[in-house]
Amino acid sequence: MELYPVLLSLEEGLERILQRTMPLGGELVSLDEADGRVLAEDVVSTEDLPPFPRSPYDGYALRAEDTRGATGKRGVTLRIIEEIPAGYAPQKALTAGCAAKILTGAPIPVGADAVVKFEDTAFDAQTVTVYAPCRSGENIVPAGEDIRRGETVLRRGTLLRGAALGLLAGLGRNECMVYRRPRVELISTGDELVGADETPGTGQIRNSSVHALASYARRCGALTRCAGIVPDQVESIAAAIARAVGRADLVLTTGGVSVGDYDRLRAALEHLGAEILFWKLRIKPGSAFAAAVYQGTLLLGLSGNPSAAAVAFFLLGIPALRRMGGWERAELEKIRVRLSGAFPKKSPNCRFLPGRLEVRGGAAYLALSERQGNGMLHPLLECDLLGELPAGSAPIAKGSEIDAYRLFT
Ligand code: AMP
Ligand code: MG
Repeated sequence: MELYPVLLSLEEGLERILQRTMPLGGELVSLDEADGRVLAEDVVSTEDLPPFPRSPYDGYALRAEDTRGATGKRGVTLRIIEEIPAGYAPQKALTAGCAAKILTGAPIPVGADAVVKFEDTAFDAQTVTVYAPCRSGENIVPAGEDIRRGETVLRRGTLLRGAALGLLAGLGRNECMVYRRPRVELISTGDELVGADETPGTGQIRNSSVHALASYARRCGALTRCAGIVPDQVESIAAAIARAVGRADLVLTTGGVSVGDYDRLRAALEHLGAEILFWKLRIKPGSAFAAAVYQGTLLLGLSGNPSAAAVAFFLLGIPALRRMGGWERAELEKIRVRLSGAFPKKSPNCRFLPGRLEVRGGAAYLALSERQGNGMLHPLLECDLLGELPAGSAPIAKGSEIDAYRLFT
């Protein structure tokens, strides 16, 4: 009799994992370091941005009421009392019949309530003539147009990139609290494995998939460490897990997760007394999968087959890392795409197809590798989408619409 659930649906499995996954703590970092990190605080503005009303054009600041009678034939001529470039404070208040020359980004002087562009005037050094009436407020950027004081500018859980960092800088925040990066330890199990720098003997293969998985984890903001190759022995696997949990927020293992004679992950977890959350999932590929918690650290046991390992990591590992990393939404987003080629097989179980997003003629396509198979790395090349075929699907015709998960942002 099994002591833990076996063959859960993807949804049930993911729920069990997310129940045991908490956002990590925060750390204060500079804006450059915050790029690509997740904000761990709500940022409320203490200032208006821009801080003062300003001119969006080179032109003349004036009182709209002074231009009331202006027409194309009969302009209104005003006396220029000063010039206000960007970065300068106006020295004079505008009174009736006066204007100030003003440059883009400069503060609007007291008394002015409109700006007329250079190209809509005639001017000399002392006077400016306008040929149409101005509205009060015309061509004036109000203080706080971009951000108002007291406003929540960015919420906890926001992925900080580009404009978000610009907004923080605009508010004088040169540091902010972000979630700590999840630390991921990758353990590769398998008697047949040798390192990428070694020459395999008969029956041996290089440990290839660990590099793909580590890269995917880093794309989710994680710090990764390859903990090495471990033989298919219960004690060795258990010892490697015991070492890894102390320095990781997530442990990923590959290999030994099925039910063959040399599949020892389960025995290793039982040997340690780890809490097994569930074993196996009703998905293809990636059904050989284990989730456990040992000494407070989540462990995901992935298949040794590179594509199967990656699919399970995409579906369960990415949401777990996002939850740890403080993302507002841990789950992957779905979009509708067309399948760029036919998929000839039936899918009795829910099936996932790693592939590449292609945009052609304004439509999104899922392009699959010519070479398909769970034991290969090829299906993962340039992979940024995971197509989903529901359980019971017939073969899929070229161009059919299906759901797909977006894997990275
Ligand atoms: P397993 O999950 O241990 O049954 O392994 C399934 C298949 O994946 C076998 O053909 C293994 O040799 C292969 N495999 C296991 N680990 C790796 C790895 N780290 N890199 C590439 N292939 C692997
Ligand atoms: Mg094996």
